[in-house]
Amino acid sequence: MSEFAALGLSEWLVGQCVQLGMSKPTAVQQNCVPPVLQGRDVLGCAKTGSGKTAAFVLPVLQKLSEDPFGIYCLVLTPTRELAYQIAEQFRVLGKPLGLKDCIIVGGMDMVAQALELSAQPHVVVATPGRLADHIRSSSTFSLSRVQFLILDEADRLLEQGCTDFTSDLEVVLGALPSKRQTLLFSATLTETLEQLQSVALNKPFFWESKSETRTVEELDQRYILTPEKVKDAYLVHLIQTFTDEHHDWSIIIFTNTCKTCQVLMMMLRQFKFPCISLHSGMKQRQRFANLAKFKASVYRILIATDVAARGLDIPTVQVVINHNTPGLPKIYI
Ligand code: AMP
Repeated sequence: MSEFAALGLSEWLVGQCVQLGMSKPTAVQQNCVPPVLQGRDVLGCAKTGSGKTAAFVLPVLQKLSEDPFGIYCLVLTPTRELAYQIAEQFRVLGKPLGLKDCIIVGGMDMVAQALELSAQPHVVVATPGRLADHIRSSSTFSLSRVQFLILDEADRLLEQGCTDFTSDLEVVLGALPSKRQTLLFSATLTETLEQLQSVALNKPFFWESKSETRTVEELDQRYILTPEKVKDAYLVHLIQTFTDEHHDWSIIIFTNTCKTCQVLMMMLRQFKFPCISLHSGMKQRQRFANLAKFKASVYRILIATDVAARGLDIPTVQVVINHNTPGLPKIYI
């Protein structure tokens, strides 16, 4: 029996995993899939890259296949890009079910979204602000039969919050049935998260990765101290040296403001580096388009603010440059 089947997953799902090159469950999947299938709430501390998305997508699909209806599952994420990435995993793994998903994020057409919601998709992946807007303004859809609520990158979901975000979350929680399963995933367990846990979860199964380091083991971290005046010259030198020595490469540069992002992009383009930017000052369509071009290696350098700091899975990236030291260790990680 395959290791996925041993977790309690059906044959069709095991087949989907194999097709997608997932031959063996990762630690978070190994530990969290069985309690989810048993009907328990789960609080999982796992970092990006650990396979935590599939750790909730797989058991939800299994339960959904036993009694499919919409809206069955709601996933909340802090960023719009992450919402697309999660919906993609649902779509690909749930293909044999004819899974209908719907993505509800800011910056996109509200009317089209309302229509999609009223068509009763099986899975809704949303950022809390936009979903709360729909709940406040519409009666054409209902979350009252939702069986699964998933809070992904939950620490970030809460901390974005100024009060607005928290009240958006309250509106969403208020529209859900109290009898449901709640799964909460986060890289770190913060104080606010513990508060949320007490209102949203029912005696959860708790799982935390044993590994001490929160970054991946193979990561080679370097610190470069330069005077401000020569910092950008050094950056250009660094990129040039790296690209001369490596054949197939992609680099992400993080900066702290939308403006620095644009300025850096203009500067690096003067040096003929193939770069593109991603920040909250851009229209949402542009953000998706730029990210897609970077993922497809049309552009090799992505210059981004922390909208791209969490959860994005881009295997081709070999180098991450923090143009400024991030204010919080969590953001750096
Ligand atoms: P995540 O931590 O959810 O962002 O997942 C990171 C990457 O790992 C994604 O590209 C997944 O498709 C991939 N992945 C998830 N589970 C497995 C697995 N069991 N074996 C191999 N790759 C996996």
